[in-house]
Amino acid sequence: MRIARADRLKKLPPYLFAEIDKARREARSSGRDIIDLGVGDPDQPTPRHIVDKLCEAAKDSANHHYALDSGMSAFREAIGLWYQKRFNVQLDRDREILPLIGSKEGLAHLPLALINPGDVALIPEPCYPPYRSATIFAQGLPQYLPLLEENRFLPQLDKVPRRILAKARLLFLNYPNNPTAAVAPDEFLSNALEICRRHNIALVQDAAYSELTFDNYKAASILQIEGAKDTAVEFHSLSKTYNMTGWRVGWACGNRDIITALAQVKSNIDSGVFQAIQVAAIEALNTGPEHLQNLVNLYQQRRDLLCQGLQALGWKVNRPRATFYLWVRLPQGHTDSIKFARALLNKADVVVTPGVGFGPSGEGYIRMAFTVSKERLQEAVARIKRVI
Ligand code: PLP
Repeated sequence: MRIARADRLKKLPPYLFAEIDKARREARSSGRDIIDLGVGDPDQPTPRHIVDKLCEAAKDSANHHYALDSGMSAFREAIGLWYQKRFNVQLDRDREILPLIGSKEGLAHLPLALINPGDVALIPEPCYPPYRSATIFAQGLPQYLPLLEENRFLPQLDKVPRRILAKARLLFLNYPNNPTAAVAPDEFLSNALEICRRHNIALVQDAAYSELTFDNYKAASILQIEGAKDTAVEFHSLSKTYNMTGWRVGWACGNRDIITALAQVKSNIDSGVFQAIQVAAIEALNTGPEHLQNLVNLYQQRRDLLCQGLQALGWKVNRPRATFYLWVRLPQGHTDSIKFARALLNKADVVVTPGVGFGPSGEGYIRMAFTVSKERLQEAVARIKRVI
């Protein structure tokens, strides 16, 4: 007997990373020395004091029960204080902050909270894939907005037709951006907010990479703009800032109607973040500035090394001001990102992510994550040089 899958799964965009994932697994299991620049997962460990706090909290039986849906008040308090210190934004601890089992969980549940069948979600692409799939699961209609290099990878919101804006309930933004590593100027964010306010659209800003910025650039919060809480919500993650991807903890904050609606969906689906992890997350948010300075310095050195290496091969590479990704246009004579990624894996044992997997406007690019050591990056460039 064969159990049929639900139609909604058939509506998902094709998973274009599948082939490269499979090839990577096969290459690894056959013992080849693969340099993986494909995954957005920090190679550095979670800082020791956070791990120690988890161990301590895990031994306390008070933390062994179902967590509160809305999270520990001490965690929401710590998030509120962090926001105040980092962005000078005040948040109501009870109504404007919602802990999440990683920001992906909240982003993926949000369309269920805001979208009726047939409503439009405005989704810039190339993008972090859950924006697309979550909209489809909620029976919404994705309206894709291309992110093009000539527009500094910002969507042209002023060009979205009025009839689309009238049906739109949600706009996803993600700056600093995965995969393009672009950052958003303040005027862009203000204009986006203004459009969303005018058309009653929820503005969802995914700030997972807000702390990984270089060359003295500091990312703003959308909530710093006056009146932003009328329509905006921001998603944050501890994953990249504190090397905590496996821990599954983040939060949403901002507009209280959106927070309430998301909390309602979640209360029907999950039972909160393991409390010992929330205790450790408080510890993380209270980490001194040296951790982040060191982390950013490390990524910045790797970024420079990789950019220089690729430029020396004649590739046109722009130095990103944020994230740990390089969004690289394929060298002259190449147009197919899957083919190119496959060739790098087969001939150089280097894994990169084909841009088209993030959306059609990503075709012609690859994404390289500098989440490996400088030595491995040098080795990757040397191998690429040998085969290109
Ligand atoms: N948002 C973006 C843009 C990401 O790239 C990622 C992870 O790669 C996430 C959200 C998810 O982060 P988390 O680990 O908090 O679920």
